[in-house]
Amino acid sequence: MDLYEFQAKDLFAAHGVPVGPGQRVVTDAVGAGEAAAEFGVPVVIKAQVKAGGRGKAGGVRVAADPDEARARAEDILGLDIKGHTVRRVLVTPAAAIAEEYYLSFLLDRANRTFLAMASAEGGVEIEQLAVERPEALARVPVDPNEGVDLAKAREILAAARFPEDIRDQAAAVVVALWETFVAEDATLVEVNPLVRDRDDAVLALDGKVTLDDNAAFRHPDHADLVDAEAEDPLEARAKAKHLNYVKLDGEVGVIGNGAGLVMSTLDVVAYAGAEFGGVEPANFLDIGGGASAEIMADGLEIVLSDPDVKSVFVNVFGGITACDAVADGIVRAFELLASVNKPVVVRLDGNNAAEGRRILDGAALPGLLRLDSMDEAARTAARFAAKGA
Ligand code: ADP
Ligand code: MG
Repeated sequence: MDLYEFQAKDLFAAHGVPVGPGQRVVTDAVGAGEAAAEFGVPVVIKAQVKAGGRGKAGGVRVAADPDEARARAEDILGLDIKGHTVRRVLVTPAAAIAEEYYLSFLLDRANRTFLAMASAEGGVEIEQLAVERPEALARVPVDPNEGVDLAKAREILAAARFPEDIRDQAAAVVVALWETFVAEDATLVEVNPLVRDRDDAVLALDGKVTLDDNAAFRHPDHADLVDAEAEDPLEARAKAKHLNYVKLDGEVGVIGNGAGLVMSTLDVVAYAGAEFGGVEPANFLDIGGGASAEIMADGLEIVLSDPDVKSVFVNVFGGITACDAVADGIVRAFELLASVNKPVVVRLDGNNAAEGRRILDGAALPGLLRLDSMDEAARTAARFAAKGA
């Protein structure tokens, strides 16, 4: 889960990272004026969207008095920044910036370690810096068993050529950012810019945090950070039922057992769909190895309730859970569901396939078509979806 800047900075503050003297999120211009009056001016008004480059897009503006804060908030609210409509702005006292730096911690999957990236030339887009002046961006691996203490932080800052006279202050902030990264189970903590102000204080003025959803069970409080408004309603319902579901753009609902099989099913559907005017998969749904009747019913219910779905392809390869058990599950899922009003194409193969197919054929479920090959089933589901369009 990616966080908004204000949420990232709340986490930073909780772990002792200095973020400035306060922040308030408002949804209208009047609120921005009030916040400006309360903080004292100047303030910065900042679009809260989960996208970078807000400054360049006109989403970060300074205001010298409450009237101006209202006007700037008016400008920013409703802006479209990289496809995200601004519904909230952050109001925060403007810092007197002397220098802007860059610092991040991230999970480096390729090298199976954590990585610190830092630069004394922050504020600018870091992707651009990495391409144009790679020598200005230090990359320092962080051993997960050793972490980042003051000595390691100094090593990172030296590699990034931070000015010597700020390294003491900056090192303490770097350690606090590492503590945030570990304690919150983040896969990314990025601060751009990390600034030195005119009093030589080091502050995180922007924050980007990605939390590891696999660690959510350790952080019940992270549930409050979910932006229910921005979440896809189908994905939210699937999550509540503990289903591995991702909404996609197409028309063929896909259900399979095992992530690898579901991924290849998406490919096969998209390939077959090209023949029918570009029919595509409508979702990813992995019901896992067990594939009980309840899980199958929950999965079918979610997929069928998607108004974009015109047909469903259930692609099951029996392994530890044999095909007859899965077939029983499908039959009982049809019983559990009030109505199945879209064509469902089922392909069963693998362990005990013959028995599974016999069960499905015997049940003669309305709207269900059973086919033996994955390609044929994908093509049929795509054809149904094209017809229904
Ligand atoms: P983005 O990265 O999305 O463009 P930032 O939060 O980094 O947004 O803001 C862009 C620039 O605006 C920063 O590099 C900094 O120069 C300035 N800025 C941001 N927050 C403040 C602040 N609280 N006080 C003063 N300047 C700020
Ligand atoms: Mg930034």
